[in-house]
This record gives sequence, C-alpha cells and structure tokens, in this order.
Amino acid sequence: MKARDIAAAIEDLAPLELAYEWDGCGISIGNPDAEVNHVLVALTLSRAALDRALAVGAHMIVTHHPAIFKSLKYLRTDDPATALVVDVATHGLVAYAAHTNYDIAPNGLNTVLGERFALRDMQPLLPTPHTRVFKLVCFVPDSHLAMVRDAVAHAGAGVIGNYTHCTFSSPGIGTFVPGDAATPYSGSKHALNEEEERRFEVRVPQSRLRKVIAALLAVHPYEEPAYDIVPLHDTETSIGLGVRGKLPEPVTLRTAAQMVREQLAVEDVRVVGPLEGIVHSVGVIGGAGGGEIRIVPHDIDLLITGDVRYHDALAALDAGMAVIDATHDGLEKWAVPALTGYLRRTLPGLAVTPFEDVATFYTV
Ligand SMILES: [Zn+2]
Repeated sequence: MKARDIAAAIEDLAPLELAYEWDGCGISIGNPDAEVNHVLVALTLSRAALDRALAVGAHMIVTHHPAIFKSLKYLRTDDPATALVVDVATHGLVAYAAHTNYDIAPNGLNTVLGERFALRDMQPLLPTPHTRVFKLVCFVPDSHLAMVRDAVAHAGAGVIGNYTHCTFSSPGIGTFVPGDAATPYSGSKHALNEEEERRFEVRVPQSRLRKVIAALLAVHPYEEPAYDIVPLHDTETSIGLGVRGKLPEPVTLRTAAQMVREQLAVEDVRVVGPLEGIVHSVGVIGGAGGGEIRIVPHDIDLLITGDVRYHDALAALDAGMAVIDATHDGLEKWAVPALTGYLRRTLPGLAVTPFEDVATFYTV
C-alpha cells in the first residue's frame, strides 16, 4: 500500500481537521505515494526511533509528536534536529504524525487514557472552538433519497447525541434547463424542466465534511447535484480536548495517585492537593496539560496530566482541584500501543512495529 493509504486510515480515526491550526499533523517528510509495507510507531521521531526503523526495515514512521513542529529556516546537518529530518528523507522514509487531531478525536489518546483509569461516562473536558458544525442541504429525487441518506450517515453526518441518521426532508419542485453539452438524468434539453425533488438536510461536523460530500456525490444520480454547505453557530459538543468522567468509586487522592502510577507504568507521579482528600470526578489531558489548569472546568475533583509547573499547581490549589502530574511522556507513551493496535486491526496486511521509547526522565 502507499503511505497516503496509511495516513487515510489513521485520519479515519483522527481527522486532520480536528488538529489545531498551529500543529504539524499528517505527512511531513517523504513521498505520500511511496510503497509502505512496514511501519514503525513511536511517540517522537527521535534519532533512536529512526535507527530502529532502519534496523527493522520500516518504510514509514508514525509518531504522536510532529517531526517538524516549527517552520525550518535551514536543513543543515550540523544541527541535530534538522540533521534528523535530512536523514529520514535521504533514507527514503516517510514521517507521519497524529498529534492534536489524535488528542481531540473521540476515540483518540485521551479516551485511551480515560479507559486505563476506568473512567465512567466519559465526556470531552474542554470545548474546541475549531470543531465547527455545518448544515448540508441537497436536492434529491425521491428514488435516491434513502441511498443519499445512508451514504452521508455512513460517512459521519447526522449524529446528534446517541442518535445517528438524524436528517430531515421535505418535498418541492426543482427547475433546470440542460445546456448543449449536458447529459441530464431526466428532463429535455433546451427546455425548462420541473422535477419533483426532496430538500434533504443533515448536520455534518467539519471533520467529516470532505468525506460526506464525497459520499453524497458518489450516490447522487444527477450530473450536477445542487447542494449548500451552511456554517452553523455551534461547535461539535461530542468532541473536545481531554476527557472527563468518574472513577468507579470515590477514593483518596493518595489511592488515585497509586492507581495512576500503576496504570501508566511510571516510576512516580507528583501530586498537588490534600492526599487524604476524596476524589471521584476526574479530568485527563495527555501531554502538556499543566498550562490548561486555569481553563479546565473546576467542578472536577482531580486533573491527571503532565508538564505541571509551580504556578500551575498554585492555580489548581486556588481552584480547589487536585492534580496528578504523571509526566508528559508517562501519559503519551500509551499512544504507541494504541496506534499500533489500531493499524494492525485496520490494515491487516501491514507490518507494524511499536517503538517503546526508553523513559526521558528517571527517578533516582
Ligand atoms: Zn506531547
């Protein structure tokens, strides 16, 4: 298969449209049309990850962190960071990253972490203003209404809460005059035709818009299907950064910290808040969530995240919220087995090697 097929499979799970604008997701190095039958999955595109990819004969490296994060001004090989980019390219490898799109995706990294902590009733923690919702309106002959409805629903349109296939249609009359070069599905050339149609409406999240339009065009019988895409005021409430949910039962912060340490297989965690205080509702942000402490809803008892600085901890104490800092990579290293499992399930013909990075920080 091609590198772009593997990218498309990952983006089915974590659409690129979910990524923040400043991010660097997708294929960043190499040829999207390169043949790939072996992928290395790593948290970060490090020198060690490249060495492992070459050793196992992988043609593509899939990471959580983008290989190129800030725009480069040069590609000098005496700078270790740019030398790595040059080496990936000269070995003909493809580098791919699923970063904030994978953080935000409904079954992405934060859901994986929430499941590790056995959270119940998981919901998004923070709204993401860029996950807009659109209304797709199109005009379909009655004979094709069911086919169009099924196609767009299958592509991700029409989901409201626990309901799928949420659509509306009303009858009406469409008009058209086919030109010389037209091959109309119905009606006569050079005459004003009237056609009984349905006005079909459905909500589409931005992240699924491209797929939904493609699905519509694939099954719509007309040569020139008419459709409108109308931006709505609301954002997608089923999607957000981080997850929140309830632990199976209320426990002390000390017990919660031990559970986190065991579930993440990290040597230690840092805890902010009264150790014997009771926690039940929990928020999780993989990676650098310390900076989000001021904006997470403070009705949660505990935030589990990484990269918590002193002043972040003070802000949490002020808000009456406990924090467990399980380290940035202690949380995000779980992207590697999760993406490995996903690729193996989705693309059975692909060889997938997980690269379990050695820890970045050690406790001594
Ligand atoms: Zn990270």
